[in-house]
Parts: sequence; structure tokens; C-alpha cells
Amino acid sequence: MLHPVAALGRLGTESAFEVLARAQALAERGRSIVNLGIGQPDFPTPEHIVEAGIKALRDGHHGYTPAAGVTPLREAVAAELEKRAGRPLDPGRVLIEPGGKPTMFFAILAFGEPGAEILYPDPGFPIYRSAIEFTGAKAVPLPLKEENGFGFSAEDVLSRIAERTRLIILNSPANPTGGVTGKAEVERLVAGLAAWPEVAILSDEIYSRILYDGREHASLMAYPELDDRLILLDGWSKTYAMTGWRIGYAYWPKALVESAVRLAVNCHSCVNAATQWAGLAALTGPQDSVERMVAAFDERRRAVVRGLNAIDGISCVEPGGAFYAFPNISGTGLAAKRLETALLEEAGVATIAGTSFGVYGEGYLRLSYANSLDNILEALQRIERWLQERR
Ligand code: PLP
Repeated sequence: MLHPVAALGRLGTESAFEVLARAQALAERGRSIVNLGIGQPDFPTPEHIVEAGIKALRDGHHGYTPAAGVTPLREAVAAELEKRAGRPLDPGRVLIEPGGKPTMFFAILAFGEPGAEILYPDPGFPIYRSAIEFTGAKAVPLPLKEENGFGFSAEDVLSRIAERTRLIILNSPANPTGGVTGKAEVERLVAGLAAWPEVAILSDEIYSRILYDGREHASLMAYPELDDRLILLDGWSKTYAMTGWRIGYAYWPKALVESAVRLAVNCHSCVNAATQWAGLAALTGPQDSVERMVAAFDERRRAVVRGLNAIDGISCVEPGGAFYAFPNISGTGLAAKRLETALLEEAGVATIAGTSFGVYGEGYLRLSYANSLDNILEALQRIERWLQERR
């Protein structure tokens, strides 16, 4: 009999991977499945980035790199973040990680322990809560509301901060809702945080470049007063369709950089060397592929929202960013998980129950529109037909 630590039993997961496995199993048995479950761009990585990765391999980049990443890449990330910060940044505080997730985990490990409280968005990316509970800290949900377009409200954040709060996790544009928090709200929050100088912030800005209708990204990086306590997370996965390359970046408070590098050394040594050179080509090369991808997402976004709102029992607020719609399904009379299962097994559409993203996700489904317009229209038809036949 083994005796693993109890914390292992507290680890959660990302249902997207489970739904993907179930959808694939059904497809292998010959069922037609439209997959609106998975949260990754359906575009290939732009060619010039792929070429840079291949060239790096041919040029002999086969070994370890410094744990924090190769210097030109850290400098390029600092330059990229300076656009958000509006002030010079220190490349020495940039860490290159295998994706956005390690930064999330390290930030939560850095502040989570029994007795500590960590605020996290709900509905939100499920790994936040999973990692918080793993550390033994108390996970305090920050409810995101449909009436606010699923952006966070400064008041809701500030009213949940307590003596034991060590870290606040924020995410805009957001998964699973596509919610975007505007500059005015971010400013109100930053002003209120002045009263809590010992609370750190993890700002997950992985969807920072995927915004619609001319919205501008309201980054927490823009506030020098947060410089000593903000951990900024972003990366390449979504912006450059590079989820499988495993690369992301972070900007750490000066006092924590050394510890964060040690966490990386203890965990994974460094990011795949060739991937880092591909990442450099992504940041410094042409950006038109990002614009094209966002324009394609935008067209699908409109189709999804229009289509969902035309279905009896479903309503959907317009997402301002990312590539998810988060329709309210309470009019169907079905619990989210029940609808997710029925749509997959009976209608052949993979979606994810809102409850996979937190308790405040009941009554909602997440649809990823990172799929072709034709597939999206087909999925909408299947959903509508299934609901009609049920009545
Ligand atoms: N943060 C959010 C909000 C996400 O939705 C995701 C991926 O789905 C990540 C972070 C992780 O990104 P990566 O694949 O770069 O680890």
C-alpha cells in the first residue's frame, strides 16, 4: 500500500481534455462529432515561426538553455511588454516557461499554504482552483457575472480581500466566458489595491491579443504602483497558435525572480531550445497572421452568438475577447453537465459544462469557436434540433 500525500487527492483537472477524449472515442466508433470543446486555435502555427524552429534545430540548438530562457528572447518579451507597461522593463525579470501553465502553478505555489487565502475567478480556468487547493490554501471564488459581460468588478474583488489573502488571480480576456474587463474597472481595482500592499496579483493575460470590436487590452502591467507585486502571465499558445510547442512567458516581481527561476530549475530545467527561437521569430516577425486569425474568430463569434440567441431556451451575451461563447442555458431546464453529455452523445456536439469552470458556471455551457464556420453552423443546427426534439 502506497502513502501518497493527501494533496494529490485535491488536484482537479481540465474537463476539456476529458471531453476531447470522449469525443475522439465516439468519432473512432464512426460517430460524427463537431468539436466545440477544445480551447486552442484551429489554425496552424504561421510558417515563418515553424521555419525558425526548424532552422534552430538545424543550427544545433539541441542542448539546455539557461533556465530563464535565452537572452534575445527575454529581451524581446521585455520589449513586447513595454508596449503594455509604457515604461522600460528589465529583461532579467522575464522568465520563459513551457507554456502559461507553469507560471500559474509557480505563482500559486509561491503564495499558497494552509491558512492563506487566494482569490480566483469563477467561472474561470479550472487549474487556478486545482492548484490553490493542492497547496492547502483556501480557494476564494470571485464570481463573474453575466450582467457585467463576465468582466470582473473592482468592488467584487476588493470586498473579498481579507487579512489572510495572499494572492489574487485575474484573467482578462477570460476563459471560459470571453469576458473582458475594461480600463475604468481595472483603474478602480488598482486604486483600491493601494489599501492592501501585501497582496500579490497574478494577471493571466494569455488572450491579450484576441479582442474584438476595437477593444484595447487593459493590462495590469500599465500600473507601476503594482511593479513589486504583479506576476504577469502571457505567451504564444493562443496568439500564435502554438499550444503544442509549449512555451509561455512571465514577468515577475524583482523580489521573486530568483525563487521563480529555482522553481523552473527544480521542475523542467528550461523550455525546449528550438521552441524558444521559434518564439523569438513570432514576437519579432510579421504580425499579420495574428490579425487574420482574430478576424476569422470575429466572424465566427458573430455567427455563434447570433445562432445561439435564435435557439429557444438559450441566450448568449457577446464575448469581447478570447474564442469562447458562454451561453446561458437555464431556459432549457437542463443542468449544464446533463446538457453537455446529451449534446455529445445524442447530438454529436462537444461542448463543456459551465460547472467545469466553477460553481458559478451552473446554467451555462462553454462553446469554443476555434472551429470552421461550417462546423459551427452545423453544431448550432444540431443543438437546436436536439432541443426541439426533446420538447
Ligand atoms: N490561462 C488561460 C486562461 C488559459 O485558457 C490557458 C489555456 O487554455 C492557459 C492559461 C494555459 O496556456 P498554455 O497552453 O500556454 O499553458
